Amino acid sequence: TTRIERHHYDVVVIGAGGAGLRAAIEARLAGKRTAIISKSLFGKAHTVMAEGGAAAAMGNANSKDNWMVHFRDTMRGGKFLNNFRMAELHAKEAPERIWELETYGALFDRTKDGKISQRNFGGHEYPRLAHVGDRTGLELIRTLQQKIVSLQQEDFAETGSYDSRIKVFAETTITELLLDGSESADGGAVKVAGAFGYYRETGEFLLFETPAVVLATGGVGRSYKVTSNSWEYTGDGHALALRAGATLINMEFLQFHPTGMVWPPSVKGILVTESVRGDGGVLRNSDGKRFMFEYVPDVFRKQYAETEEEADRWYTDPENNRRPPELLPRDEVARAINNEVKEGRGTQAGGVFLDVSTRMPAETIIKRLPSMHHQFKELADVDITKQPMEVGPTCHYVMGGVEVDPDSAAAAGSVIGLFAAGEVSGGMHGSNRLGGNSLSDLLVFGKRAGEHASAYVDALGKRPKVATSDVEAALEVALAPLNRQGGENPYTLQQDLQAVMGDLVGIIRREGELTDALKRLQELKVRVANVGAAGGRQYNPGWHLALDLRNMMVVSECTAKAALEREESRGGHTREDFPGMNPKWRQVNLVCSLDKSGDVHLEHKPLPKMRGELINLFDRTELAKYLTEDELTEFDALEA
Ligand code: FAD
Repeated sequence: TTRIERHHYDVVVIGAGGAGLRAAIEARLAGKRTAIISKSLFGKAHTVMAEGGAAAAMGNANSKDNWMVHFRDTMRGGKFLNNFRMAELHAKEAPERIWELETYGALFDRTKDGKISQRNFGGHEYPRLAHVGDRTGLELIRTLQQKIVSLQQEDFAETGSYDSRIKVFAETTITELLLDGSESADGGAVKVAGAFGYYRETGEFLLFETPAVVLATGGVGRSYKVTSNSWEYTGDGHALALRAGATLINMEFLQFHPTGMVWPPSVKGILVTESVRGDGGVLRNSDGKRFMFEYVPDVFRKQYAETEEEADRWYTDPENNRRPPELLPRDEVARAINNEVKEGRGTQAGGVFLDVSTRMPAETIIKRLPSMHHQFKELADVDITKQPMEVGPTCHYVMGGVEVDPDSAAAAGSVIGLFAAGEVSGGMHGSNRLGGNSLSDLLVFGKRAGEHASAYVDALGKRPKVATSDVEAALEVALAPLNRQGGENPYTLQQDLQAVMGDLVGIIRREGELTDALKRLQELKVRVANVGAAGGRQYNPGWHLALDLRNMMVVSECTAKAALEREESRGGHTREDFPGMNPKWRQVNLVCSLDKSGDVHLEHKPLPKMRGELINLFDRTELAKYLTEDELTEFDALEA
């Protein structure tokens, strides 16, 4: 028999990015024995790559900023498809979470009078991103880790063991969540009882028995070839949730960041931070034209400059001028670049130019954008203080994710004791996320998830029990690729999946291509079920990928199905055959679930209605661009 190491915890947090670490801190502060599990090395989660900053309406750079303005911007950015309650909690609590980070030892860049400095970003009305140069994620992770170490030292002083209340399992992958085996499968909700996985280095298996699991596994970008995401973003948390009976919402909404590197080919997709535009960078096509002025949609007309002169004046006098169109939300800019290239006004490598060299002195560029300067010098031999960068869209962020209760981060569906925070959760960002809103999302909802998971454990009577047969089943699934002779090559399968998703479920979508994608995904599913990995269990990346593929497949199917179903264009979902937003579709969340045979089901679920005091933050002319006639009549009654 295969040895399985057993552990018992009150709360198991899967993921050691910003959301996971913040959740773990909160669970430990609530006195819970907490495990943190991470596929990569501790400190190497995706959050570390975040560059621009964390959005929080502290009002340091412009005293007019407050949570209501932030809420409004977030709803506009998400084209009103956001879960309003999440957007409200996020806008209200983000400043507190940022200040709290400084009590943990973070040090953000400062204004002249010593406050936390805030920078401009797309879609944010005022400068709002707390930052540390262009390495904000590094500071965030560093600080959260430092807080965890300090808690472990307190625990050591008290118990003689650093790990007594909070333990990190690095380079450990969870492959399955386990449910309460003592509860009958009568169709009612079932409690979480544990998580099963393996150490990546040794291939040894582990079982965590726990009544509460917080998913904080990040995104899904690795199903696309051109992506800013690192290797671990294979949608594991999304898939774990689905298989445990939870639901996913808004999976059709993927954010293609407008500016990824396009050259050289080996680095295609690597992110070029939006701070470049926030700090004055402009986009030009191969004719040298600053083309974004042509792409301001009606809904944003009032807030954006119409001439280059006005746009340029805005950087020094934002009170009396409107913002440059380079700072439109990401979906708008990505589509504009896509179109310029398609119409033959792109660079040879298939991008457009992003230029700061003519906009700022070299010292300022190096001071404000040190990582970008370094990145282009090292990877492309381009000096951004002298030459423009070449950029194009790259798959960056998934707005869709685990459907959660906004206040407690508890997963919806038929499972209890499961919580989700950070990029793996859905709803908060609607159809499109504003830059900087993820780092603040991680902190706000990471804390909430940790707090509510702990409260759930406190209120629980009998602890749920893992069934031996479920552990055996999880083990069998994990070992299957190694036991299969002559199975499909996992790397070939991943490339084939990336081709389907990139070519047929990419930035611009069409009915015929989506139908084709679904057909190909079905074929791939059969092949993935037959994936094989040569070699043994000791550090075997082919085996790891073989297991990840199962997750990528189901998540991709959700995305393709939802993309075919949603017959409108909104935020990160553009249908060439259904251009423009349809107010009827704004009332609909598409909810994915999995049935016993592993098939994906889609359901239309009405969006929760925004409370009167929140809807009153918008004026009628703006609402008319998003709402149905019936909703507007309701709004008028509210007003009267
Ligand atoms: P992550 O930080 O990705 O952490 C996921 C964790 O889950 C990792 O530890 C991983 O190892 C673990 N994991 C995954 N699957 C498993 C499994 N099966 N078993 C065990 N562990 C698992 N947002 C902003 O707001 N501002 C920015 O400036 C910004 N810049 C960005 C720059 C780049 C290059 C990128 C790619 C993203 C940027 N974002 C930014 C987005 C933001 O960084 C991410 O959305 C955010 O960091 C996600 O955090 P998370 O805690 O949800 O997940």
